[in-house]
Amino acid sequence: MEEKTLIQNGVIIDGTGTKPKKESILIDNCSIKATGKDADKLADSNDVIKIDAAGKTIMPGLIDAHIHVTFDEPSSNDELFFHRREALSAIIAAYNAKKVLYAGVTGFCDPDSLHSIGVDLRDAIKSGYVEGPRMSVGGNALLTSVGGTAGRLIPDEGLRGYAKIVQNKDEIVTEVRRQIKNGVDWIKIHVTGLIPNQKEEGEISVWSFEELKLVCDLAHDLGTPVVGHVRNAKGVKDCIKAGMDMILHATFMDEEAIDLVCETKTPIVPTFTFQANLADFGESIGASEDYRQIFKKEIDDNAEIFKKIHDAGVPLLCGTESGFSITPYGEWHYRELEVFIKDIGMTNLEAITCATKNAAKSIKMENKVGTIEKGMLADILVVDGDPLKDITVLGDKTKLSHIFLNGKEIKREEEIKDITPPQGWRLSPYSDGILTQEVAKK
Ligand SMILES: [Zn+2]
Repeated sequence: MEEKTLIQNGVIIDGTGTKPKKESILIDNCSIKATGKDADKLADSNDVIKIDAAGKTIMPGLIDAHIHVTFDEPSSNDELFFHRREALSAIIAAYNAKKVLYAGVTGFCDPDSLHSIGVDLRDAIKSGYVEGPRMSVGGNALLTSVGGTAGRLIPDEGLRGYAKIVQNKDEIVTEVRRQIKNGVDWIKIHVTGLIPNQKEEGEISVWSFEELKLVCDLAHDLGTPVVGHVRNAKGVKDCIKAGMDMILHATFMDEEAIDLVCETKTPIVPTFTFQANLADFGESIGASEDYRQIFKKEIDDNAEIFKKIHDAGVPLLCGTESGFSITPYGEWHYRELEVFIKDIGMTNLEAITCATKNAAKSIKMENKVGTIEKGMLADILVVDGDPLKDITVLGDKTKLSHIFLNGKEIKREEEIKDITPPQGWRLSPYSDGILTQEVAKK
């Protein structure tokens, strides 16, 4: 049966960055049939569900360009790499995907996943076994044997957690082909990492340009884009020259890197939510002051650069790195918009475009979702408030009056329950200090 819904009297922020308008929108099956007067005209009163959105905002569903739905909120790399069983991770990821959807996120990119679970979760959601947002996924992130951001926890070869270590060109070729055969939407490369005794600040490039180019050429020949985790200027430049399709973080760019990115307009996902949460609220969960300062500095040192490339027309995408203890699922998906406004200096309307139209690039659905226009798929939020006045309303789940995904209203009847983590799932330290005699005496 055809199902039509008319949402009336609300103010539409359409995701394109144009001025909001008060008008109706007609959803027919999975897509937006009409907006404005056409919507009212086409909606004959009998077979149309009507929603009165007076005083409310109608906008595209949020798209989070950087989530790790399979990590289940670890508080350390040890927990992430050594405490996540494969099948249980998959089951719990399904639960977490629902949390993300119920927070108004109708699509997300999961660039790499534990045990390569992402592909199967995406397919389970598509088939309807699991309730969750639209997903685009990578498999295991490709790392060289130098490692990534987890140092010596990464072995010299083979698999660990989300990582696949590729030692040479042959292994790169085999792994890229294998992942594409298995259905990934993206190939993910961990381009920069940390080593002991390094001279530079931040992360260093652990891939050669030739290796990056090999991955990009190979993946592109098989119709698959490549995304990289990059936190330094050399990495950004090499990735762009190699033809990479999207860059996560892209911090610490120099002038040459800025010029390159402005030329190619490569989509960038700064992903400051993790840092902002640590800097602003880290104290409440026991993060050290040093640690908090390091992350605050990454935002401070890069905000101006992002402002510059945004003004030059480089698409910035909102991504939150949800999936860690600092960034739990369903809680902080609005937070990147807040950082874009406060630190990068965007208007609220521009930040919304970054979390909708621009972010649709991360799920490879540009021109299908991310804006409210005739013919687009109906992924829509009705928000009880005005995000142009206060962006944090998008983080208040009680203010999400309606969530539509593919034209269907998400009922949210089943409550998100409190859970007790399975035994051995969370890292359980004996203590957070060392019991010397001196400490004991205090
Ligand atoms: Zn990430």
